[in-house]
Amino acid sequence: MLIKTLLLVVGVVALASAEKYDGYKVFEVTPTTADQIEALFTLSKDADQFDFLSLSRIPGESARVLISPEIEQYFKTILEQKNIRYQLADSDFGRSITTEILENRLLRQLKPYSGSGRLGTERYYSHEEINAYLDDLAARYPSRVTLKVVGKSYEGRILRTITITNGDGRLGKNVILMDGAFHAREWISPASVVYAIGELVENFEENAELLQDYDWIVLPVVNADGYEYSQLSRSTRLWRKTRQPVTINGKECYGTDPNRNFGFHWMGKGASSNHCSDIYAGPKPFSEPEAVVVRDLIHSYSDRGIMYLTVHSFGSYVLYPWGWTPDLPDTVEDLHEVGMAGADAIKAYSGSTYTVGSSTQLLDEAAGASDDYAFQAGFPISFTMELPRGGLYGFDPPASSIDRLVKETWVGIRAMGKKVTEKYPMPKAVYL
Ligand SMILES: [Zn+2]
Repeated sequence: MLIKTLLLVVGVVALASAEKYDGYKVFEVTPTTADQIEALFTLSKDADQFDFLSLSRIPGESARVLISPEIEQYFKTILEQKNIRYQLADSDFGRSITTEILENRLLRQLKPYSGSGRLGTERYYSHEEINAYLDDLAARYPSRVTLKVVGKSYEGRILRTITITNGDGRLGKNVILMDGAFHAREWISPASVVYAIGELVENFEENAELLQDYDWIVLPVVNADGYEYSQLSRSTRLWRKTRQPVTINGKECYGTDPNRNFGFHWMGKGASSNHCSDIYAGPKPFSEPEAVVVRDLIHSYSDRGIMYLTVHSFGSYVLYPWGWTPDLPDTVEDLHEVGMAGADAIKAYSGSTYTVGSSTQLLDEAAGASDDYAFQAGFPISFTMELPRGGLYGFDPPASSIDRLVKETWVGIRAMGKKVTEKYPMPKAVYL
């Protein structure tokens, strides 16, 4: 009640001046034919005008799109011409996003993290708080946890991995490499990865089998600059990219999509050379220090790495290579089997439905992504997990649903980890 009243007061003050997203609406569109899906994909290429927050190639699957007041009528006309079913999902996007930012800020003040004990699931945490939690784990579980500085973000934030073992001291175990927060606005991603860390370390007895012959190495926040930036204000809430500026022909734009910046089919389909685009692949492969960090992690563990798992949102998918071509890898059955173990476990746990398949076939090409890179570098299992849609525009599950989502996600991650340990029980060298 107190929070609601405060939000109302602060919200009214904040809304008094004109700001980004004033008058914007969110529409939900549901294409049911191949022709309608194609029409929406064509519109989505014009990302400056039509900000599609999700779009898949599955008929009947709805997508959300953010529409400015200037193009609303034009947009509706196109939908009506193509007979595409649509409805209004949010009539005042600016106001909704303001409320969300304020709620996040208030919860942070009301429920501060003391720097010791497990991070709760009642709110989203800053990069600094997540790092403090890693320090706390290393202090409390010195025999099973080690931290390592693996690089710095463009703005100088320290990026650290946590290595989780069962403490038996055996070297050369297989590795599961996991990361979160590639894309700034996907807040439920680092929340889920941090919860998974907590389960592996603090709930060790229940998860000991996952650490018997495997070490888990986790980088919870890849794009630390973008993640922090997305928490600043309503105009930055939907930030996706890194924060390194690029100037081309005198025009400066910020950030590169770190998940298009990898040097494997770099700047292929599904990546943009427009430096102001949300899917800009960067001025060159690995121009972003954050992508370099993940690349180096992939290579340093490629002799032991069995599964690479990068956690994004949203859409409820387990996606596997390739992302640069519709062709499927020779080992597609192995990938599918492990992915289905995750989807089945989540279904049994909460009833949520995940779709498992190749990135390109389920969504669209997205060349230069980390999952393709890890796969070609020798991880036999490589996934992008897209967590469920939440909130008004998909990237914003309210704080009250974090607990449910991170627990559900862990059930899926654990099931995939277990399947991997069963499928590849011997040291990796045996399978090479
Ligand atoms: Zn993402």
